[in-house]
Amino acid sequence: MLSKALGESVKTGVSLRSIERNQDKWVINWNDHEYSYDQVILTTPAHSLSKLPLERSLHSALEFLRAIDYPPVSVLNLAFKRSQVSHPLDGFGLLIPECEKRSVLGVLFPSSIFQHRTPEGDVLLTIFVGGNRQPELATPDTEELLRHVLPEIREILGIKDSPCFIHHKYWEKSIPQYNLGYGQFLKQIKDVEKKFYGLQIMGNYKDGISLSNCIEQAIRS
Ligand SMILES: Cc1cc2nc3c(=O)[nH]c(=O)nc-3n(C[C@H](O)[C@H](O)[C@H](O)COP(=O)(O)OP(=O)(O)OC[C@H]3O[C@@H](n4cnc5c(N)ncnc54)[C@H](O)[C@@H]3O)c2cc1C
Repeated sequence: MLSKALGESVKTGVSLRSIERNQDKWVINWNDHEYSYDQVILTTPAHSLSKLPLERSLHSALEFLRAIDYPPVSVLNLAFKRSQVSHPLDGFGLLIPECEKRSVLGVLFPSSIFQHRTPEGDVLLTIFVGGNRQPELATPDTEELLRHVLPEIREILGIKDSPCFIHHKYWEKSIPQYNLGYGQFLKQIKDVEKKFYGLQIMGNYKDGISLSNCIEQAIRS
């Protein structure tokens, strides 16, 4: 939808063969044709950069970004009949501190925050599991996840019986962790951008993770 709205300036589904610096231009071969550009902006996640057909020197220069930690997360959306849930769900959601030794990291109440998230009379919960704290609990196996999650949220939110809707998305590499020493990655990114004139590296591993951080970053550049 977004690409349609942007029209001819966006090309999707192309086959990228090479990205190379040639004198003062970037030469990109896509769909078996070569095109010259003044600037190249790389916006894939850090862990995907190595999959791009970058010239060897740039590929090596970006190798350090593979060390950024992207722990896995399972995001489970469960809907229940309102009458099944005794908690009023009168808030944004909940975060569970580590000391409580639970499997669930946190729960959002999307049907309390936004309209039309569920049919009338239902409620929706978005449950996060895994992350940096318990990466081993994030799993692509929905049944296994439900075995961990359902007893906990039943207890915390006073829920009876089974959900009427289940949607699970497993993020094998979710979001970059700005761990201690992260400044070194940022410094190295700047050095690479200086060395490869006309190159910009952007994404949630640079100036903040939230969608609004990413939009601000794009507007600033
Ligand atoms: C589970 C989860 C929940 C989140 N919740 C929130 C929230 O509530 N609020 C909030 O503000 N933020 C949230 N975030 C964070 C936010 O969504 C992301 O940080 C942000 O969308 C990242 O934007 P980006 O442009 O850096 O990367 P992305 O949006 O990941 O874009 C990268 C693009 O690169 C493409 N790509 C990858 N590899 C290749 C390749 N080899 N070749 C070509 N293209 C490739 C991908 O298909 C993708 O389109 C959440 C993130 C996750 C994972």
